[in-house]
Amino acid sequence: MKALYWIRNDLRLLDNLAIEWLCKNGSEVLLIYFLPNDFKKWGVERRNFHRETLENFKENLSRFGLSLNISLKKPAELIPQLISEHQVEALLFTKDFAFNEALEEKLVLDQLNGVKILGFDQMTMLHQEDLPFAIQDLPNLFTDFKNKVENKIPIRPPVETQELNFKSINLPHEMIDWGSVKSTPNFHGGETFGLQRVQDYLWNTDSIKTYFETRNGMISFNDSSKFSPWLANGSISARFVFQEIQKYEETREKSKSTYWIFYELLWRDYFKFYAKKFGAKIFMPNGISKKEHTFENSQENFLAWKEGRTAEPFINANMNELAKTGWMSNRGRQNVANYLAKTMKVNWIWGAEWFETMLIDYDPCSNWGNWNYNAGVGTDQRDRIFHPPNQALRYDPENFYQNKWLIKE
Ligand SMILES: Cc1cc2nc3c(=O)[nH]c(=O)nc-3n(C[C@H](O)[C@H](O)[C@H](O)COP(=O)(O)OP(=O)(O)OC[C@H]3O[C@@H](n4cnc5c(N)ncnc54)[C@H](O)[C@@H]3O)c2cc1C
Repeated sequence: MKALYWIRNDLRLLDNLAIEWLCKNGSEVLLIYFLPNDFKKWGVERRNFHRETLENFKENLSRFGLSLNISLKKPAELIPQLISEHQVEALLFTKDFAFNEALEEKLVLDQLNGVKILGFDQMTMLHQEDLPFAIQDLPNLFTDFKNKVENKIPIRPPVETQELNFKSINLPHEMIDWGSVKSTPNFHGGETFGLQRVQDYLWNTDSIKTYFETRNGMISFNDSSKFSPWLANGSISARFVFQEIQKYEETREKSKSTYWIFYELLWRDYFKFYAKKFGAKIFMPNGISKKEHTFENSQENFLAWKEGRTAEPFINANMNELAKTGWMSNRGRQNVANYLAKTMKVNWIWGAEWFETMLIDYDPCSNWGNWNYNAGVGTDQRDRIFHPPNQALRYDPENFYQNKWLIKE
C-alpha cells in the first residue's frame, strides 16, 4: 500500500507501531517530518538537540535505503496536497495529547477523504485504551490515578521491527537554516544515543540502583536517569524503558529505586492524560483551578528571575544553569517555578514559556502540567511555598552546585 507517515514526536525505529505497520503493509512510503515553525526562537541547546535527533533518525533510516523528508511548511497545508499528488492510500501518525498538537491533527484529518487513517497511541507507557476510566474521568489527584492503574492494567511490550522492507519517496529538498546551535554536555540527540543512555544508566554503571537516594541531586549526571530529552521527542519509548527496568529487576536487583523510575514514568503518563482532559485550560493563568488566582505582570521581576538576579542564590544558580545548558534538575525546576509564582507572584505563564524556549527536554504536557502544579493552579490544592535557603541547605549543603552556577562578578 502507498502510504504517508507523518512523523512527529515518535522519532525512533524501535517500538514504533507505525513502522511495524509499514513493514507489514507498506510498499512505497513518504516519510515526512514538519519542523515546528517556532524553532528559530528556541534556545541554542534545544535547537541543537533537535537537529541531532533528526540527523540521527535520518541516518538510521538511510541504513535501510530510506529517506526522511523534512519540511518547514505546515502539516495541514502540505499533507492533503501530498496525499492527492502521490495517490497515497494510507496516512499514519502518532496521536498527541496536547491541545495544539491535537488541533493540528484535526486540521489535517478534516481535509481528507477516502484515505485510510491510522493514528497510533504510543507516547505513553500505559495505553490509553487500557485505562479503566474515560479520559474525562481521570482522577484529579495523581495518587488516585496511580491506585487505579498500578498493577491493574498491563503495560504492553515494545514492538520490534528487524527489516524495513519498503521503499521511500523523496521530495525536493528544503534548505533549513538552523541558526546558531550549541551542544549540552552528555546529551546527544537521537535514538542511538537515547538507547545508549539507557544502557549506561542501567547496565553499564548500575546507577539505577541508587536512584531513590540520588534523584534530588543537582551535580552528578547519574543522579537521575536523564532520559527525559529522548522521551520528550520520542526517540526512545517509555514502554521500552519500562521493559529494561523489568529486565534489570529480574536479572540484577529489584529495589525501591527501580520502582521509583517506574513511578516517575507514571507521572509522565498522568500529565499526558491530564493535558488531554483539560485541553487549553492548562495554558491559562488560572489553570484548572476553580479559585481565582491573580498574578502580577511585572516585567522587571520576571527578568530578574529569568536572568538569575533574584534575592536567592539557589534560584539564581538554577536559572543560570538553564540559560547556559538547556537543562535543570527536577528539584531546581520545582523551586524556581514555585518561587516565581508564589514568592514573586509573577505571572507563571511567562516562566512556563521560558522553559518551553530553553529546555532540551521540553514536552508540552510535562511542562505545563508541572507548572500548573507548582504555581498552585493545578490539582494540588495545598499552597506549598518552598523556602530557597532551606532547600539549598538540604540539597546543596556544601554549595558545590551554587558555586558552579553563580556568575562571578
Ligand atoms: C516546572 C517544571 C517543568 C517541567 N518541564 C518538563 C518538560 O518540559 N519535559 C519533561 O520531560 N519534564 C519536565 N518536568 C519534569 C521533570 O523535572 C523532568 O522530567 C526530570 O527532571 C527529567 O530528568 P530525568 O530524566 O533525570 O528524570 P528522572 O528523575 O530520572 O525520572 C525518569 C523519567 O520520569 C519522567 N518524570 C520524572 N519526573 C517527572 C515529572 N515531575 N513530571 C513528568 N514526568 C516526570 C521523565 O520522563 C523522566 O525522564 C518539569 C518539572 C517541573 C517542576
